[in-house]
Amino acid sequence: MGQAKKKREAGARISWCRTCTYCCVLPTITALDKPMYRRCGHIRDQGCGIFGESQRPAACISYNCAYLSARLAGSPDRNRIPHPLEAGAYFHRDPVEKAVVLFIAPDRPAAWKASAIPALMRNVLGQGETLVIFDRGHQMTISTLPQFEAVLARDFVAFVESEGRKPDIPSFTEWNPA
Ligand code: SF4
Ligand code: SF4
Repeated sequence: MGQAKKKREAGARISWCRTCTYCCVLPTITALDKPMYRRCGHIRDQGCGIFGESQRPAACISYNCAYLSARLAGSPDRNRIPHPLEAGAYFHRDPVEKAVVLFIAPDRPAAWKASAIPALMRNVLGQGETLVIFDRGHQMTISTLPQFEAVLARDFVAFVESEGRKPDIPSFTEWNPA
């Protein structure tokens, strides 16, 4: 890729992500030895402090959530997928697992249910794909529409915690919204 195109893409990426850092906090990033829910130490001013520098891991350079992918590609989905900061959640399609993975921001666990994401996830399930949701340290794998409607209708995490279940992802204790 030419330098001019690289610069244009970097500018577009920053402008579409705005101040979102969800994918720098919520998932595991092996190259950074970062567990789920721990903020990457390179976050600066609600962005990447090493953006464009050689030590930024390849996994970060190549990662686009579904929202950013649609925006960069100019695909019709760009007008359907809500910005992660508006939905309090983001997702991507995992080509290896053949699943859509949805990460919920722990400080706004209900916001995604009022966004366009449920309609998008119904389409995913309707096409026979699996949905994996990470919500406040719990992991849910959903493969049918009735299962999904049950998750929408109740607070899954409150439900499992009322049964005394601990988070599936112990590093959830490291989550810090600051
Ligand atoms: S979750 Fe999406 S919008 Fe947010 S920082 Fe990551 S790529 Fe950008
Ligand atoms: S290195 Fe930059 S892009 Fe990668 S997780 Fe850290 S802040 Fe985010």
